[in-house]
This record gives sequence, structure tokens and C-alpha cells, in this order.
Amino acid sequence: MSRIHILPDLLVNKIAAGEVIERPASVVKELVENSLDAGATRVEIAVEQGGCKLIRIVDDGEGMTADDLARSVLPHATSKIRNEDDLYAIRTMGFRGEALPSIGAVAQLRIVSRRPDEDAGHEIAMAGPRIEPVTAAAGPPGTTVEVRELFFNVPARRKFLRTPPTEVGHVIEQTARIALAQTRVEFRLTHNGRLVHHLRPADQMRSRIADLYGHKLAGDLIDIEREERGLRLSGLVGHPSDSRSSGKWQYVFLNGRFIRDRSIAHAVREAYRGLIEHNRYPVFFLAVEIDPSSVDVNVHPTKSEVRWADSNALYSQVLSALRDRFLSANLAASYRPAGSPYDESQTDTSPDEAQRVERARQAVVDFFKQTAPPINTPPAAGGKMPPGAPGWRPPPPLLAQEAGLHGTMAADTFEDANLSTPKSTTPSSPGEPPAPAEQAEADLQQGAYRNIMQVHNAFLVAETDDGLVIVDQHALHERVLYQALSEQLGAGPLESQRLLIPETLDVRPEQMAVLESHGPILEKLGFELSAYGPNTVAAHAAPNILKPERVGEFLGDVLDQLSARDAPASTELLLDALISLMACKAAVKMGDPLAPEEIASLMARRVLVERATNCPHGRPTSLSLSLNELEKQFKRK
Ligand code: ADP
Ligand code: MG
Repeated sequence: MSRIHILPDLLVNKIAAGEVIERPASVVKELVENSLDAGATRVEIAVEQGGCKLIRIVDDGEGMTADDLARSVLPHATSKIRNEDDLYAIRTMGFRGEALPSIGAVAQLRIVSRRPDEDAGHEIAMAGPRIEPVTAAAGPPGTTVEVRELFFNVPARRKFLRTPPTEVGHVIEQTARIALAQTRVEFRLTHNGRLVHHLRPADQMRSRIADLYGHKLAGDLIDIEREERGLRLSGLVGHPSDSRSSGKWQYVFLNGRFIRDRSIAHAVREAYRGLIEHNRYPVFFLAVEIDPSSVDVNVHPTKSEVRWADSNALYSQVLSALRDRFLSANLAASYRPAGSPYDESQTDTSPDEAQRVERARQAVVDFFKQTAPPINTPPAAGGKMPPGAPGWRPPPPLLAQEAGLHGTMAADTFEDANLSTPKSTTPSSPGEPPAPAEQAEADLQQGAYRNIMQVHNAFLVAETDDGLVIVDQHALHERVLYQALSEQLGAGPLESQRLLIPETLDVRPEQMAVLESHGPILEKLGFELSAYGPNTVAAHAAPNILKPERVGEFLGDVLDQLSARDAPASTELLLDALISLMACKAAVKMGDPLAPEEIASLMARRVLVERATNCPHGRPTSLSLSLNELEKQFKRK
């Protein structure tokens, strides 16, 4: 007697169901995908008790003949592929021929279908092992599938079903994923007879997002559109100021199907790096259209993950599409406190609101009463002294080129950085870049910022054409330095300074190995190191931008970063992380008093530096308040 036996069909189907049918939402996914494959323009989804009791999908698609209906519930029965070649160029949602038999194996399934060219329809029913013969049935053209009592014969599975509200939550999310990918199809979703969504056909994803999540979210999204080497990328991404605390607002679609894709998610995160904080998630809805032969969708039972023929090309295309778009959009954070009277989502002002606004108003009034005019202030007791006063020493050089780093590089790079830079009106001899102070002065004369002052040795406040801007001095300086460093790094190693007395640093044994293996990276940063003992290294040269007394501290941080468990894998990303760190260490701090020329110079850089609106750590560098907003705050409007 043989020990190996062929499993009965029902068991095979139940095993298949174990993979594809996890909960009511999975049934909805499979059935709606079938409707879409049948060319439906309208799909109605009705669920009861979270879908545990009933799921009914009605479509206006091509329907099935009596013969096809009888076959549709058999295992491995599909109209979508015929041979192996078809498998490598899937253009339909389904192709495995598994959904209907799997569902029928674990629930009471009933299908009524009519082809548009036939006068009458047919019906078939299945529950567990029992398949009823096909009978004639009335009904409009299209297909209706009813699934009752999911997992009625699989108690282990039924136990894992959650409460109806939780299950319907999954159904709603599932429906949204499909509806976002298929904007031209009309969808209606009801739960226990109550309408959840009625999504009318839309030409654009933005309107569908508006129907699902409201006009506020949809209206603020930035369009992305790019087509390159047979790959079309389109969709919408969130403004960096609208980041979220979870990745729930992230959708990727491939050829009309929702997928999860780490490579795309990573490319997006990379594009937002420096624009949003580390623990925040951008919002995005991105659709990729590609020839089906360049992607393998047959790697996951529910097809929610795929394998790309060229994932590097995809990665860099997503990254550059978003980066380019961000550079062209104005991403300065606009100060718009939630729930304030000019927040569109809230029109009436509650007593709490009114009090809050009044407190804000009073704070501004007090602030201006206390603060003396910004420049040429007589020395206040314990306050900042003006330049030239006895005991005043100029603060450390502010900008990279003033610190001797990369000589004329900054001015040169800013010249050809192709940013919409206000050009200097001061004539300077040809071939010679304008001196930084001169350039800054010129920028100011162009009217970018007026009446700049430093407050609390921490923020710079300036008048702009349509309001005022408040700048975080550390964050902006850090961004300026980061930009200069990353440009210099693109051209070669960072400039380094020889240290008169080598700086020594104690390291743990395992860090010695890290130092050795990262030699080239340390060299690129401008370090020259040697072993000074079994647990000590000496730095003979260090990046120019760092003050000698900070070299040891920075080197320690670099070592920690290099040996961190979550250290970036690629050299490029590591270097990027390290120059962010360096910029942070070298930038002016909160509490550092700045001379007027330094303030002017720093503010002038703001318009010149790419993404100057965010520091490399992702905190905003500035807040803008428009006159309009001010007037509303003061109830003049
Ligand atoms: P697959 O979608 O992988 O082919 P299914 O088990 O989901 O497998 O469906 C089996 C077959 O039944 C499909 O190939 C299709 O021909 C037919 N079918 C299923 N649902 C519908 C529908 N709503 N309208 C028309 N035909 C359908
Ligand atoms: Mg299917």
C-alpha cells in the first residue's frame, strides 16, 4: 500500500483558499478583480457583518455562458492564460484560476451570470464539496457573485475573523486600493445596507483621492509625471509639510494593480530625505505602467509583490522624478496652524479658538514691545554687543567659503546651479566671482528680504514681499553647509586641514576593524588617520570645515555611525549621512549671536541653496506668514 496519495479536490481547494482567502477583504479583492477582467465599468460591492455573513459583487461585465459558468468553479480553470508564454506577459488581474474554487470550498458561493448578447442568464451554486448543476436564471447582463457564511466549514479560520467593524475596515481599504488603481470604473460600496462610498468614474487619480479622502488632502498633492525607457510613472505625492506618522498613506500601483514594493518605497523615502523628519512618512499615490513582460507578477499568491526585470532603473527613475519635481515646487512650510480661523476645514471660531488667537496676538504685541531695533543696538546689560564695542570679538566665520573651505567654490557653484537667483547688480570685474558680502548685499537690494533682525540669538525675522519669514538660524546654516559639502564631495574629497598636534581618540576593538574597512570613506571626508596603539587612533588631518577642537568629537560620531546596525549600505548614502552630521556640527547654534553681515549673508544664501526650506535632518528651516494670514489673525479680514 503506497504511503503517498493524491489529495481530494476539496482539500486542494481549501489549501489554496488558505493562501488567497484570509478574510472577507480577500474575497472582495478576488471578486472585484474578476469583474475588472470581465471589462466591467460599474461594480457594486455589498457586505453584511463585515463580510462574514454576506459579500455580494454585481458587475456589468462580459458575463459567462452556461458552459463557462460550470467550469469557472473548477480548480485551475481560467480564461486568462493558455500557455507558459502567457505567464510572462500577464495583462489581466487574475490568471491562476484559483479564486472561485477556493471561495466555494470555504463558503456558500452562488454565481448568476448573463452574457450581454444572450436573452437569459444562468446560475451555479457551490458550498464545500457540493457543486450544484447550472440552471437558467433571470438577471441583467453581467455577473453577480454572492458569498455567504465565510469559513462556515473551517472553524480554525472563522476563529481568526475579527469583529465586523474591523473586517469592514479591511474591505473599505481593499476597495480603495482597487478604486485608486482603476479610476475609470464606477464603484459603490455598502455595509449593512448603508452607503460607504459611491465613486463615480474619474479621469484623474486626484478626483478619486478627493472622493475617498476629501478635497483637502487631494488638493494639496503634487503631480508626478515621467516617462522614460518604456516605464511610465504618474501619480501624486504629498507636500513635505504634510507628512504622516505612519506609512498608511502610501500607495503603489503597477499596471492598474495595487502592489507593495520596497524598492519604490525606498526611492520615495530617499527623495524626501532632508525634507521630512526621520520618523515621519510621506503621502504618495504612484502608478507605474510598464510592459508586462518586464515584470513577474507570479511571485506571490495574491500578486501583491512583484519581481522587476530592472529594479535599478525603476529606483533611479522614481527618485529623480520626485527630486526634480521637488526642486521645481516651492516647498517652504507655510505657517497654517490646524484649526485656526483661516483653516478652510474649520470655518466657525469656537470660544477656545478665540482665546488662542487672542493669546497669539498678545504674544506678538509683547514681543515687539520688548525687542529693540535690530541693528546698531546700544549694548544692553548682559545683551549682545555691537561690532566695534570693547570686548567684542567677531563670531566664528559663518559660511563655508569664509571659513576658507573650497575657496571660490560656493560663489561658482551658486552661479551655475541654475536656480532662479537674483543676480548681482553691482558690477564686478569679469571672471571674478563677487565677494560673498557683496553678493549678499546685492541679493538684499533685490528686495528678497528687508528689515532682517535676529531674535533671541536663535531666529532671523525678515520682511518679504507678501509678509514675513522666520528662519531657524541653525537649521538654515546647516542646510547651507550641507549643500556646499555635498557639492564639493561630488567633485572630489573634501578639503582638509593638517592638524598641528594630532588628535587622538580611543576606540573599541571592533571599531578598529570598522575604521580599516571604511578607509576610503574617511579619506573622502578629508581625514588622515593612523593607528596610535591597539585601541587608539590619531587624526593627522581633518575636514577643513571643522574647528580643530571638534575633530575628536566628530570622529567619535563618525565611528558610531559607521558601526551602527542600521548604517546605510551604500557608500553614497553613508557619505551623505556623514556630511549631514558634519554640517550640523559646524553650523552656528541656537544662542550664537550673529553680526549683521553674517545675518545678511546667511539670509542671502537662503534663496540660493536648493531645498533651503528644510535642514538636512528634515526640520523646516523657516516659517512664512503672509500678510493675508496676519490680517486674518488680527481680525482685519
Ligand atoms: P482567474 O481569475 O485566475 O482566471 P477565477 O477562479 O477568479 O480565476 O475565475 C475563473 C474564471 O471565471 C475566470 O477566468 C473568468 O473566465 C470567469 N469569471 C470569474 N468571474 C467573472 C466575472 N465576474 N465575469 C465574467 N467572468 C468571470
Ligand atoms: Mg480571478
